[in-house]
Amino acid sequence: MPSDAATTGAASTRAATAAIDRLSRVVPDFPQPGISFKDLTPVFADGPALRLVTDALLEPFADAFDVIAGVEARGFVLAASAAYASGSGVVMIRKPGKLPRPVLSENYDLEYGSATLQVHEDELPKGTRVLLLDDVLATGGTLAASCRLIERAGWSVAGIGVALRLTTLDGGANLPGRDIHCLQEV
Ligand code: AMP
Repeated sequence: MPSDAATTGAASTRAATAAIDRLSRVVPDFPQPGISFKDLTPVFADGPALRLVTDALLEPFADAFDVIAGVEARGFVLAASAAYASGSGVVMIRKPGKLPRPVLSENYDLEYGSATLQVHEDELPKGTRVLLLDDVLATGGTLAASCRLIERAGWSVAGIGVALRLTTLDGGANLPGRDIHCLQEV
């Protein structure tokens, strides 16, 4: 018999998954031929759906984190929503040239090209537990680079939450040992 907490968690994930299924769109050949883009912006645009997804992303990590990090740009939506819901703050993991103070940088490969992410090196006290959120886990390069930034800054990765995981790409292989919670797999 599952505990109440487990039951609540499963129900919360099911409701969020249903909202993602109902509202998300697949855009073929975007941003380049051969890429099947999973567009979650309609989920973000629907108030009840955004709340369901936010609550389901937070649920497994209750009391396990101090701050939430979001990856530019769609991760910012989830991070800000989850931070408000949990009463925590947000750390912005950004594309190059956007952050005004000294940064740490990490390069990485993604499904369609390569990229760099940055974070302010002194944004949080050492030892801060960071919950990392993004919309889609594809190759895992983005989240792996984000984990490296968090740990190089002297913080720890409390867990990773994503709305959607692409099963055709083994993104989890780039994130060994990480506590990853996905709401839906496609
Ligand atoms: P990756 O580093 O390959 O795991 O890519 C994840 C990041 O790229 C996330 O920030 C996603 O928003 C975006 N992304 C990569 N592939 C897709 C896709 N097929 N559909 C939607 N977003 C994607």
